[in-house]
Amino acid sequence: MTEKVDIFVSGAGIAGLIAAAALGQAGYSVLVADPAPPAPDAEADGSDLRSTAYLRPGRDLIESAGLWQALAPHATPLEILRAVDTTGWPPRVQGSRDFRADDLGDGPFGWNLPNWLTRKVLSETLADTPGVDLRLGTGFAGLLARDREVLVRLSDGTRLRASLVIGADGRASPVREAAGIGARITRYGQKALALAVTHPEPHQNISTEIYNTGGAFTLVPGQDHDGRPSSSVVWMNDGPRAAALMALDDAALNAEMTERSCGVLGPLTLASPRRVWPVVTQVADRLTARRVALVAEAAHVLPPIGAQGLNTSLRDVAALLDAMGEAPNDPGAADALTRYERARERDVHLRAQAIDLFNRVCKSDLGAVHALRLLGLKAVHDIAPLRRSVMRAGLGAQTT
Ligand SMILES: Cc1cc2nc3c(=O)[nH]c(=O)nc-3n(C[C@H](O)[C@H](O)[C@H](O)COP(=O)(O)OP(=O)(O)OC[C@H]3O[C@@H](n4cnc5c(N)ncnc54)[C@H](O)[C@@H]3O)c2cc1C
Repeated sequence: MTEKVDIFVSGAGIAGLIAAAALGQAGYSVLVADPAPPAPDAEADGSDLRSTAYLRPGRDLIESAGLWQALAPHATPLEILRAVDTTGWPPRVQGSRDFRADDLGDGPFGWNLPNWLTRKVLSETLADTPGVDLRLGTGFAGLLARDREVLVRLSDGTRLRASLVIGADGRASPVREAAGIGARITRYGQKALALAVTHPEPHQNISTEIYNTGGAFTLVPGQDHDGRPSSSVVWMNDGPRAAALMALDDAALNAEMTERSCGVLGPLTLASPRRVWPVVTQVADRLTARRVALVAEAAHVLPPIGAQGLNTSLRDVAALLDAMGEAPNDPGAADALTRYERARERDVHLRAQAIDLFNRVCKSDLGAVHALRLLGLKAVHDIAPLRRSVMRAGLGAQTT
């Protein structure tokens, strides 16, 4: 028997879950499937130990999708973004600037949450959301797009008819492939370690990004762990150095992290397993095909700097909802998809270019580039109108 829904979402990662909830809230019937159930805790095999700082516009979307209430108790506000430029090894601080949320008014820049916990809480919430059918343990297997509908096959043999398929199935998106959409990838030879630490000094809701050769080392404030202040770490390095760090025992890694962090929060102690992620920029050639829309990492992958990745993804979801709103009876109609593509393509490309450049400048060990980086940091910060417009762009104001 063939089931019928308005929208099929492939992928119940964070972006897919939020998209499904927002679409359900808008009155569509939604089926969202993912072969991988969420990890029960941080220690579980394959748990996503990244954290995400949800910037204000992303938080607003999560709230309007009816999901924020369940996440809020686990969230830590981000009130200051501290950029620290260092040189040499051990790193010596050359300059530091604070970007303060109260400079823009309106409360914190964003709220930080561990990804594994977010996915678990969202999956639990969606299991009870009317209009949304969450199927974990089964995935997208194939599609046949027609003028008026799309036929979908799932890996458990289920067949569906839908108006629209949304590919939210990650960087290797099977929907993107099935729709015949290519992607351009830029590799940097870099990898990012993601893990959690505790430290004696309170983080005071400050996210600290420390630049040195190999990339940024970022401490993102989190909730206390076993009664001690705790932060998430994202540490970018060239590939061999990342592999060497992954192989260190805990005590040696603690010493390396503490040195790399310039001791800003005191000695760092590992408080989770470690995961490693390749750092790439990847942009899909198109965001749509007949009766198909790509969102989130299926459409774009960015280096983890400035909390842009998932926040850019949530802008996709908001734009897709807007695009459908003009013809709600057929969410996969060609006009709606054209509106979505137009609304997002420029911002996605400009953001990818900006983060690509920023990453190259951050990881460089060339003296001239380093001097420019320090100069740039000071100029962006010290010229107030420039500082505020950069902060607004980082928060998601449309790039022009
Ligand atoms: C180290 C690091 C730190 C980061 N920090 C931040 C940050 O602070 N702020 C920020 O905004 N972004 C950040 N990002 C980016 C962010 O983590 C990612 O953009 C985001 O987690 C990806 O979410 P997603 O839902 O697009 O993809 P995924 O989480 O990869 O989800 C895709 C889902 O699709 C499923 N799937 C695969 N195949 C199928 C199939 N056949 N059928 C159905 N489903 C399928 C997978 O099982 C998976 O659950 C960071 C990235 C890295 C690498």
